[in-house]
Amino acid sequence: MERNLKVRAVVTSVKPLGDIHKSVSLFSPESGLIYATVYGGRKGKKSSLAPLFSVGDFQVYHNPVKNEYSIIEEDCLFLPQNINTDIEATYTASYFCETVTRIKTDTPQMVYNLLVSALLALEKTPENRRKILIDYTWKLLNISGTAAELTECPSCSRVLPENEVLYFSTSLMSPVCRNCSDTESIVLLPGSRKYLIYTQKMSFEEALSVQLYETAQERLIQTLLRYVNAFCRYPLKTISSGML
Ligand SMILES: [Zn+2]
Repeated sequence: MERNLKVRAVVTSVKPLGDIHKSVSLFSPESGLIYATVYGGRKGKKSSLAPLFSVGDFQVYHNPVKNEYSIIEEDCLFLPQNINTDIEATYTASYFCETVTRIKTDTPQMVYNLLVSALLALEKTPENRRKILIDYTWKLLNISGTAAELTECPSCSRVLPENEVLYFSTSLMSPVCRNCSDTESIVLLPGSRKYLIYTQKMSFEEALSVQLYETAQERLIQTLLRYVNAFCRYPLKTISSGML
């Protein structure tokens, strides 16, 4: 493996590493998640390297002995401003970044494209963050191969009429009919189900332009967040902290 690499990536987390350095995680279209160190990254010139939620081309050094990556330089392609000045948009972006670190994927390119699209949309219209959260989450569940068709029950294969309310099966990690569910608390109402079916094959941007009533949005978000938590096996921090 080459020691000096050029990696295009999103900065998905930034943490202090002692008093002087910082540790960052990057999500790249080729390799998915990469953990890297910015030596001297907490002070001086290097502190501006790899800001959270930025997208850039990173010059990375790989130490084969320690199997460790360190960031030398960043050519920044996207530096969020609106996201960072809006606390709720910041929480939403943190949730996006946490999901990509938790979902196992064979298609990091698709996950990367979705993550960048969601961050750009959030930067452009932070006030639209609830709708962006819905379309991002539904697309992510589809990319990761976990989303059900929602037209028939995945457990008993019964075709589901349009007006039927769906429940959730935590063992199947999917919405199912009432008979097949093992929980009463998560429901998918007919209007929300219609929306999910309608937008399932669309691109993220296309789905974003489809209207959804605000009251339906909040209920659907609760369902989708439970769906993601079930899929990730244990709760995401950004969800369990109540930030969303
Ligand atoms: Zn069923």
